[in-house]
Amino acid sequence: MKLNVDALRYLSKDDFRVLTAVEMGMRNHEIVPAELVDRIASLKHGGTYKVLKNLLKHKLLHHDSSKYDGFRLTYLGYDFLAIKALVNRGVFLSVGRQIGVGKESDIFEVATEDGTVLAMKLHRLGRVSFRAVKSKRDYLRHRSSFNWLYLSRLAAVKEFAFMKALEEHGFPVPNAVDCNRHCVIMSLVQGYPLVQVKQLQNPEMVFERIIGLVIRLAEHGLIHCDFNEFNIMIDDDEKVTMIDFPQMVSVDHRNAQMYFDRDVECVFKFFRKRFNMSFHEIPDDIDDSEVDMDESGRPCFSSIAKGSGFLDKDLAASGFTRKDQEDIEKFVEGGIEKDADSGDEENEDGGLASELNESDISGVDSLHLVEQPTLNCDVDGRGEENEQKAEAGQTNGPETQDASDEEEDNETMISKDAELTKRLRNQNRRVIASVRGGRKNLASRNTYKDKGGRSSHNSKIQKQLSSW
Ligand code: ADP
Ligand code: MG
Repeated sequence: MKLNVDALRYLSKDDFRVLTAVEMGMRNHEIVPAELVDRIASLKHGGTYKVLKNLLKHKLLHHDSSKYDGFRLTYLGYDFLAIKALVNRGVFLSVGRQIGVGKESDIFEVATEDGTVLAMKLHRLGRVSFRAVKSKRDYLRHRSSFNWLYLSRLAAVKEFAFMKALEEHGFPVPNAVDCNRHCVIMSLVQGYPLVQVKQLQNPEMVFERIIGLVIRLAEHGLIHCDFNEFNIMIDDDEKVTMIDFPQMVSVDHRNAQMYFDRDVECVFKFFRKRFNMSFHEIPDDIDDSEVDMDESGRPCFSSIAKGSGFLDKDLAASGFTRKDQEDIEKFVEGGIEKDADSGDEENEDGGLASELNESDISGVDSLHLVEQPTLNCDVDGRGEENEQKAEAGQTNGPETQDASDEEEDNETMISKDAELTKRLRNQNRRVIASVRGGRKNLASRNTYKDKGGRSSHNSKIQKQLSSW
């Protein structure tokens, strides 16, 4: 997917406020009613309609009027929210060329203030495998257009947590820099995916290193599950770096043996085909591990002294919980179809999306960027920079809140949001009923109209958004 960040320069505080309001609304709406967006955003001087039109023009939102007048974020809209949050945190300043297209991600170069180039991975669950699984199983029937938001975020959180933990345990992985929403920032690997490498000085040594990694991962309680020539990078010194971790599982997983054998097989197959390797002379002390090899030279999963606790301790510490792991595994294995089959309208928009975290919406306040001549898509905050900074400084932005405050805010907001949602749903039903009955309903024509000054809107949401 093309990522044109030019529009970021021209978007105002109100634009981002409304974009964030749509994101918040998507926690429990597939399509967020325009009126709810208006209420959540509560623009000081009104004008949500105009802002929504502008966001539509830039393809940051999608308009859907099939059931009622509403909006949802596009991937681009979600990209912009993540990029702006990371830029505001000072993680990077500008976005450059695309360097990779994965099955379920787009990878770009980004540059920091001091000119360091990093890699930005934008997760795009739902692009390939999600749809494939969906078409097979027809699960998430009503939810496909907003579940990607939660699932892509989960994939990013998981990838970031694993990368950090693996790095701390001395594995050759990119340095995990930061993460926001569905976006992971990591160091740029100097090298090429193994799939592009036609010749190696020392294929046996590289092979041993790679198989050694699969074994060492298992010794640490992990299986990569997508360990192949696309996810192994190799540099000019034939140093190996592994990437792409959202699908990793624990050695306790019920299919662990199968996943382990599959990873091993991928490597064997690739080296046999590409480098004409035969495997009877592979030493059985790869990576100093005491692992039994079977008659074909493949490491036996059962003989590995598998570690434990890696997932629970290290990963939980970096924010990825066992529950997150279970959710993403369910997604990968298509195990959540029963939710979609419930047919319960009230629940239709609950579930996964409602777990989007408030903290993810936070911190998207001021934008202050400078030109980076080496990269082609610079993002610039223009004139509003100082005004925004000043405002952000005055308010106690959500990122500076402590965790318990934030939790409380979340709960209050969710309950108030639910109340509002219920009322809006009833209102929508009335509107639909009256339209079906042939009567022209005033409310349906005025959906976008600014309803400024309402006392019922959520003060917590106001607080969350006040840093715009
Ligand atoms: P996916 O999960 O979609 O397969 P990957 O993480 O495998 O995504 O990345 C896709 C491609 O992007 C890789 O094959 C590689 O070419 C490139 N890439 C990913 N991460 C980096 C990085 N840190 N440095 C350099 N290139 C990268
Ligand atoms: Mg990959």
